[in-house]
Parts: sequence; structure tokens; C-alpha cells
Amino acid sequence: MINSVSSPNFNFSVQSTAAPAAAPQGETIEFSYNSQDRLVKSADTVDVSGVRREGASLSTERVKLDASLKPNAEGEYVFDQETQPKSFTAAHSFASVANTLKMFEEAYGQKVPWATRSEQLTVVPDGGEMLNAYYSRNDGSVNFFHSLDPVTNEMIYSGQSGEAVSHEVGHAMLDGLRPDYLMAWSPDPGGFHEHFADMTGFLMATQDDATCEIVAKETGGDLTKDNSLSYTAEELGVAIGNSSGTDRKFIRNANNDFKWQDPSTLPHNAPPDQLSTEMHSWSQVYTGAMYDAFTKMVKRGMEEEGMTAAQAIKDCGAQFIELYAHTMKEAPRGDFSYKQMANCMLRADREYMGGKNQTFLREGFIGRNILPGGMSVQSHDYGAQVVRPMTVSLDGDFGMFSGAKVQTYVDAEKMYVNDSQSSEAKELRQNMKRLIDAGRILYTEPNQKIETKDLFDNKGVPYAGVVRWVDGNMVIERNTIIN
Ligand SMILES: [Zn+2]
Repeated sequence: MINSVSSPNFNFSVQSTAAPAAAPQGETIEFSYNSQDRLVKSADTVDVSGVRREGASLSTERVKLDASLKPNAEGEYVFDQETQPKSFTAAHSFASVANTLKMFEEAYGQKVPWATRSEQLTVVPDGGEMLNAYYSRNDGSVNFFHSLDPVTNEMIYSGQSGEAVSHEVGHAMLDGLRPDYLMAWSPDPGGFHEHFADMTGFLMATQDDATCEIVAKETGGDLTKDNSLSYTAEELGVAIGNSSGTDRKFIRNANNDFKWQDPSTLPHNAPPDQLSTEMHSWSQVYTGAMYDAFTKMVKRGMEEEGMTAAQAIKDCGAQFIELYAHTMKEAPRGDFSYKQMANCMLRADREYMGGKNQTFLREGFIGRNILPGGMSVQSHDYGAQVVRPMTVSLDGDFGMFSGAKVQTYVDAEKMYVNDSQSSEAKELRQNMKRLIDAGRILYTEPNQKIETKDLFDNKGVPYAGVVRWVDGNMVIERNTIIN
């Protein structure tokens, strides 16, 4: 997909979630699967239900594999990772996507719409040579790649990591539920996208018994110790480290110390051990808060409810899945702050889960400075529920982007005599200045053809926005590819 030519269409439309006509049931078939990767544990197998197969093509009602894959002699999709890496990667990525969606939809209680015009999300198990993985709204796909680790000489496939695959599905699901988050320019919606994606991989792993046993052994149930669950995508992290000459054991660690601080005081990029406004880095503040709560929930499960460490991890994972599903039903629309999302999570816990985790969640948010501490009264700021587009002109010192038009989504209840003088417009200009200064906006010439591959910088990181020319006017549109 990376080499395909597509003329970007940045308009989003959400398909109807109305119940479709009765579809064929499909079969339940066994697939290769690893909720972690081979650095943590060897691959297992998992059942995928609703599988439809026609010759070498595989799909479910909501997911389709963009590769031909024939079953093994037993009629299953279980392959040896070392001797049949291509087949393993295809089977694994398809199974991971289908079951990640199933995990969330069962808690959500209805279909998660895709933010594309298609009923099915396309899985590209191996899109070529790159140390990367990404979700693309325009292509309606999650994409995985391969690359040779220059130190170990091992071929690394991002589609072989359960956490990496579920991460991209997390982006696809959140984009379907709240397409306007990928239209926002401030750090928090981007950071939350990355948090939600990482948490999707984390939660899938909590529902895998073998992973729970490993983490129980590593920590004895004290999850304040680093472990295979807190580390994201170990094998990819090591390979990225080896390719860039740095020592890395993982991509991110949920068991971190990052605290919220005014984004305007942070750099846009920083080494992995420091906080920046780059959205993967910024996500770690929210992830840290949720992980803090999770560690306390596990402790309570063991000490007060008589569970083993492994049982408590799985049980608390199930509680979190429910919490996120309820939160997304009433989560803010448009641009929002971590604080507003935290309030929504606390409300979801109170209203749908009996407030069981209220104290732990609150302590997590306060501990990371997402919510104010002390004897503060309960906040009722849950963000906007109805939004309207606001277009702002970048008048002033924006270099080659001066005069460009940028759109954002703001609370529809806030009407101004002049939008361009509003606090939202002022904030948008600040965010655009930050992104332009950090080189995250791609300039293009009028009539320049933009291909998918152009939307990434030379390190494989998608740009935040791209210039398009509409009737002779420069417009900066959000890039809806996210990795
Ligand atoms: Zn991501």
C-alpha cells in the first residue's frame, strides 16, 4: 500500500451503523497468534469466528486480508514462525485484527463503524520493507511491514507482534467512533489516539492466559515492577534501537513517570526517556495514569478478592475493557483535553460500573497532574457533544504557510461574532505554529500529485498535516495516516 498512488480524500464520512441484512455465519478456525512477540514468548494459536474463505482469500464480515493465504494440511491457519514467516505473518495479523475488534465490540454492545466507506477493514500483513506499522483512513487499512535487524540479522515483521497489530486496530476503532479526533491539531486528541492504541494492545494481552502467567511470574502481582505487559512491542523496539544505534528494549513503557505539564513548555521531539508533544511521547502521560490505577486494581484483586496474580490481571483487564467501551459511548467530540476525557472515564465508572474504581482512577489522574488534586469539587467539564467546523486563516508569521486556511472542530454551542478572534482560533494558530516549527506540516505545490508515501517523512513518521490547493487557496488538511 505504501507505493500505491492515491489522491488523498480527507473528507470523512461515517457509515451507517444500522444492522445489516443477515450475513453468512462463517466458520470458526484456528490461527497462529501471539499477544506479545517471540522475544517475550513463543506463538500460540487462537480461534477466529465468522471466517469466510474463498480459495486463498480470507475475510470476516468486518475484516479482510489483503494477501492470499492457503490453509495447512489440517485446514487451519497455523504456521511455523521461523520456516513459514510470510504465512505466519498473514495468519497472525488477520487473527489479531479480527479478535481485537471482537474484544471491543462485545463490550461496546454494537458494531464499531469504520471511518471509511467500506464495511471491511483491510489488513495488509506485509506491505514491503520498512520498520513500521500504520493505519490509513483513506486506504481503509492497517498496514504492516518487514525489515532486517542489522545487529541480529533477523527479519522483523511488525505484523508478528500482537501488541503492534492491536495498536493499529485501536487507531482504526477510535477513528470510526470519533473521526473528529484525527481532525484536531492540539496535542491531547493525538496523544489520546496513541494511548487508546497502546491500551488496545495492552488489554488484548490481559485476556491471554499465557501472558497473564508470564507477568505474574515477572512481578508476583506487583505491577509497579516493569513487565511484559507494561512494555509495548519489545521485538520492534529492539529492532528500532539496533537500526538507529541506540539501546532499546521496547517501544514504550506504561510503567512510566511522565506527568502532565503545559505543552507549550515542552519540545516537539525528545529522546525516549523525556517527554515531548510528539503524540506517541505525549500519550505516555495518560497511559501512565491508567496504568497506575491498573496496578492498584490488581493488588486489590489479590488482597481482597482472593485472586491469583494471573487471575487478577485478567479480571482487571476485563474491567478496563468495559470502562473504555462505556467511556467511548459518551466521550467528547472534536478537540478535547486530557482532563475532559478523564472526567468522562470517571463518569463512566460511576454510572456503569458502580464506581468500583473511582478512587484508583482519580488518584491516577491526580498523580499525573491531569486532574487537580486536593479537595477539588467534582468537575463537570466533559467536553463538547456537538461540534461545528471553524476555519481559521494563518495570518502573521507562518513562513511559507502564511495565509493558509485550517479547519478545526469546536463546541457548536459556542458562537462568536468573529470566529477568527475566538480563543479556539488563537489556540489553533499556536498549535499550527508548533507543528510548522517542528516540520510536521508538508508543503506541496499547486497541482502536485500526492501519493501515500509522500505523507511520511524520511524517518517513516506521518506528517500531521499537508498543504492542498483549493481554488488557488492554500489549505492545510490533517493527515489521517497514523502510526
Ligand atoms: Zn499509533
